[in-house]
Amino acid sequence: MYYGAVKILVTGGAGFLGSHLCEKLLANGHEVICVDNFYTGNKKNIHHLIGNPKFEVIRHDVTLPLYVEVEGIFNLACPASPRHYQKNPVQTLKTSVHGAINLLGLAKRTGARILQASTSEIYGNPELMPQPEFYWGRVNPIGIRACYDEGKRAAETLFFDYHRQYNTDIRVARIFNTFGPRMASDDGRVVSNFIVQSLGNKDITIYGDGSQTRSFCYVDDLIDGIFKLFFTEKVYQPINIGNPEPITMIELAEEIIALTKSKSSLVFRELPADDPVQREPDISNAKSILEWRPLVPRRVGLENTIQYFSQSTEVR
Ligand code: NAD
Ligand code: UDP
Repeated sequence: MYYGAVKILVTGGAGFLGSHLCEKLLANGHEVICVDNFYTGNKKNIHHLIGNPKFEVIRHDVTLPLYVEVEGIFNLACPASPRHYQKNPVQTLKTSVHGAINLLGLAKRTGARILQASTSEIYGNPELMPQPEFYWGRVNPIGIRACYDEGKRAAETLFFDYHRQYNTDIRVARIFNTFGPRMASDDGRVVSNFIVQSLGNKDITIYGDGSQTRSFCYVDDLIDGIFKLFFTEKVYQPINIGNPEPITMIELAEEIIALTKSKSSLVFRELPADDPVQREPDISNAKSILEWRPLVPRRVGLENTIQYFSQSTEVR
């Protein structure tokens, strides 16, 4: 049970979600140690936090052991976009698996509560809509997405085994597609691609026929969800966190073209291998256990993200 402010380690803290999480923890009075190897993270994301006496940054790769004294751990370190996680698949798998082993070891030694940023990708290309947490998924173990999907699945196994074997105080958040300011403009994810293309009046690249669906959650809602999960007692089951409102990629492109008043046209490109056809979270557990639900309408989230990209200089 946590009373008052605690010292929390955030791995992947300089990334898109990690930087928003560091902000939220600091705003709630906690001390934050941000660990990142800056593979996809950006110093610009945490620049405004430097100088805060409760904030500290360590350049470190989570595939190596780490010795710090903390009371809580959020494990977000892992490239999240297909373009980045497929660039060095072996390192992606090591980051999920060795990273989980190292951080669970740290949690075991210190007695810290530890949350894993898992993913809807553990459901693979699902037959069930929406996906509840009890669904075991349909993942290709040898495909080009496997380094990410199977790495995250193995990490979940490690989390639940540490809990059963050592009574480690775990939380597992299954995060569905999230978007917002500080997404990297070059990471190849659909929201950033479509916004950057629309703002430049360039062709919008639809992979496949664009009928595949995703459900997009705005970053503020997502951070609120994983924050609530971490600070809720004894949630020893995975919890889906996402926005249960699916949209096709064609509809998303049209929505972004309208919001940016763009002259862009749609062009169709080959669908990447193992690209899931549909994805939508069942968030009944998040609603009942965490009293959480997404509050930001997609349109408002997209407007904020468009504003961010239209002002961003993206210095790396
Ligand atoms: P991101 O790429 O912006 O952030 C990942 C961070 O981890 C980066 O700062 C990167 O430099 C760091 N990192 C990568 N490998 C590392 C290593 N070996 N050691 C230390 N740091 C390392 O991605 P994000 O969107 O912020 O995702 C954060 C977490 O949430 C990831 O674990 C991801 O799998 C998970 N997630 C994100 C989404 C999403 O839609 N954004 C969806 C599901 C799950
Ligand atoms: N996508 C697309 N055009 C792009 C980038 C992505 O049509 O320029 C599609 C992609 O094939 C997938 C969906 O958008 O079906 C979401 O892709 P993203 O990489 O953002 O997330 P993920 O596939 O991991 O859910």
